[in-house]
Amino acid sequence: MATVPRPAAPIQLLDLAAQHAPIQDELEAAVRQTLAEAAFIQGPAVGKFAQELSQYLGGAHVIPCANGTDALQLALMSLNLPAGAEVIVPAFTYVATLEAAAVLGLRPVPADVRPDTFNLAPAAVRAALTPRTGAIVAVHLFGQCADLLALRELADAHGVALIEDNAQAIGATFQPNPQETWLAGTVGEVGTTSFFPSKNLGGFGDGGALFTRDESRATYLRQLASHGQTRKYHHQHVGLNSRLDTLQAALLRVKLPHLPAWTAARQHVAARYDALLGGIPGIIISARDPRSTHVFHQYTITVADEPGRRDALQQHLHQHGVPSAVYYPLPVHQQPAYQYLGYRAGQFPVAERLCRTVLSLPIHPTLTEQEQVYIGEVLQAFGGGIAR
Ligand SMILES: *Cc1c(COP(=O)(O)O)cnc(C)c1O
Repeated sequence: MATVPRPAAPIQLLDLAAQHAPIQDELEAAVRQTLAEAAFIQGPAVGKFAQELSQYLGGAHVIPCANGTDALQLALMSLNLPAGAEVIVPAFTYVATLEAAAVLGLRPVPADVRPDTFNLAPAAVRAALTPRTGAIVAVHLFGQCADLLALRELADAHGVALIEDNAQAIGATFQPNPQETWLAGTVGEVGTTSFFPSKNLGGFGDGGALFTRDESRATYLRQLASHGQTRKYHHQHVGLNSRLDTLQAALLRVKLPHLPAWTAARQHVAARYDALLGGIPGIIISARDPRSTHVFHQYTITVADEPGRRDALQQHLHQHGVPSAVYYPLPVHQQPAYQYLGYRAGQFPVAERLCRTVLSLPIHPTLTEQEQVYIGEVLQAFGGGIAR
């Protein structure tokens, strides 16, 4: 089959060790300094990191917290929605997006996604809006912005909040028109992100943050993340204990300046995939919204919706030493925990089909051209076998 030899070293789905190697000394220095300062909770690095991330996000307020799921929960808490209010979420997302609503006694309402970009379909959101809707949570899945223009307009027209789950698209931009550029995570009333190690800006454990352009909401979110306190031992609100560890902040401060170069490297890797995979029968490259940049948290292809085809492709890749992953194998309305919402199979056909047909390929800033050419040949061999 392959004319390009299988690379000697195993291909990694995600290669954090390779990414960290060039900054190992700086990372170790940050750990040593944190140990020496011994201010492990709300130490100086937390505020400095928040400030530096704020600069990266065009001046939006940044509120660090313990993880991306807490960030979503805090964002919804800051809206003070009545019990049972509806929160529209994509039917195709990571479970945290709706879990945050469910634990607050709010009702997650899935809406179907677009087949080409995998992001919320504005028409489906419009159809899901009711007088009980309190918020729309847009997810910028795999690193590409949802249709922020349509969703912002829908939210404004119906007087509901827009929350952006930006765990996968930090640094992505969206142009609602050629004169304007929006930063993902700063368009909604609140944006959230995650520093889970595998995210584009990953820590060395759990971490997360909230973004908002509204100063009073920033203050409120800060209080909510700190036991609802307005000053020490004075608790104005029912809050959470959700803080970013000083150690994580110190390490993230080392990584943040590299994020633009890592994003560019991911985009370069993605462009090479586009060129290598473009002509392969049976492999569909996902569409790009021309208004959005794509920061490629994942590079996700789809195959034809035929029983067993995606799993056979994954098996074929595995046999040839190419790791891959299915994000996500089950739509949210078909998860056992969310059966109480009362949806049936067939109600969100695009999300359901994507769960049967998507496959994410290795993507990280250090993936080499040689590895990608090899991956392309392995895919070609499978594609050749299934060409119709
Ligand atoms: C990772 C992720 C989260 C959750 O972040 P954690 O830090 O793991 O809690 C939420 N939403 C999306 C889309 C994610 O990818």
